[in-house]
Amino acid sequence: MVLRILVQKFGGTSVATPERRAQVAKKIAEAISEGFAPVVVVSAIGRTGDPYATDTFLNMVKNICPDLPKRELDLLMSCGEVISGAVMASTLECLGYKATLLTGGQAGIITNDNFGDARIVRVEPKTILDHLAAGKIVVVTGFQGVTEDNQVTTLGRGGSDTTAAALGVALDAEAIDIYTDVEGIMTADPRIVEDAQILDTVTYNEICQLAHQGAKVIHPRAVEIAMQRNIPLRIKSTFSDAPGTLVTSVQPDRGAGTDIVSDRMITGIAHSPNVTQIRVSTVDVPDVRQAHKKIFKAMALADISVDFISVQPEAVLYTVRDEIAGKAVQILQNMNFSPEVVRNCAKVSVVGAGIAGVPGVMAALVEALTDSGVSILQSADSHTTIWVLVHQDDMVTAVQALHRKFMHQMP
Ligand code: ADP
Ligand code: MG
Repeated sequence: MVLRILVQKFGGTSVATPERRAQVAKKIAEAISEGFAPVVVVSAIGRTGDPYATDTFLNMVKNICPDLPKRELDLLMSCGEVISGAVMASTLECLGYKATLLTGGQAGIITNDNFGDARIVRVEPKTILDHLAAGKIVVVTGFQGVTEDNQVTTLGRGGSDTTAAALGVALDAEAIDIYTDVEGIMTADPRIVEDAQILDTVTYNEICQLAHQGAKVIHPRAVEIAMQRNIPLRIKSTFSDAPGTLVTSVQPDRGAGTDIVSDRMITGIAHSPNVTQIRVSTVDVPDVRQAHKKIFKAMALADISVDFISVQPEAVLYTVRDEIAGKAVQILQNMNFSPEVVRNCAKVSVVGAGIAGVPGVMAALVEALTDSGVSILQSADSHTTIWVLVHQDDMVTAVQALHRKFMHQMP
């Protein structure tokens, strides 16, 4: 018998209460009645502060010992998903279904040993397939795997999305459904832009860009994995029957083929807070080229990832995450530079495959921000994205102004 496998991933808010878990069970029941063998991936219950949220576990041990080794931390961080998986499996059993709960390792997810942010290197799907063939619903704990020598690892931020995508590919699923607390991928975060629109279909590339720029509705790594095998991804709400967003390589009205750029010029506006801008003047430096080299080498050696880089003869500008800014500044000062620092900035991005080379896009962006009283601290652009750095206090205003300008006033 050929199994029609559907991966269904449920985020932390979707499994937080008995009522919500009943909704989850309903989505699983619907999949079964449509003839699918569901593989259910769950995240830890709730968000920061909730009793079984991953952050809560972390704080518990941080209060005792601030630097527990990463291997031990990963074992702890994997517990939230085990708890929610058990709760979900119980919910299904109690409704009369047969469910099997598997940890990431038991489900055959093998990762490298980069604890805290491990990469999946391969998936051995046999165990899942055996349980599916026996008519079970397989519940897999998201966000985790094991190394070749059986050490539990976690997959970093958005890790359950990655689990779902990797299982979808390994099991050759018909689709990967990402259930969350919004009705799909929208033109901006609906928490910031009230009239953000749902995107019915987007290409893998479009959503990848948006996700990389901070739209946390799906993790970009998950999109990249699903894209490798062209498995359709759907982002839907656990709490409604809306069709959600379909992510594929083609626009349905354009026929099959390559990753066709859609008609729309702008896909959406994304934002990413908590960055610090660092400016290192090289005006009085005798050998500017050596200075450029030394600055970036020092950041690399300290494992500090830099973004928004602009190298000019008189200064070097870049951003780092707020929490690492102190360390970056210390390093620069130790090298006898006097960095100027603007803390609490945010990166706001206009993403759209259609913006390349279109006259007036930058003018419209600058106009929208200026008219709203937002100062642009820095900007950069690529083929599909324009980024601006703004003070974090201006972030919401900036996102709203750009959304108004690009989603309502320009075509
Ligand atoms: P889950 O716990 O289900 O994984 P997340 O919190 O990771 O949920 O992602 C869903 C959230 O992503 C939404 O509540 C929404 O606030 C946010 N979000 C940010 N950008 C977007 C966007 N462009 N479209 C939809 N949601 C977005
Ligand atoms: Mg998420």
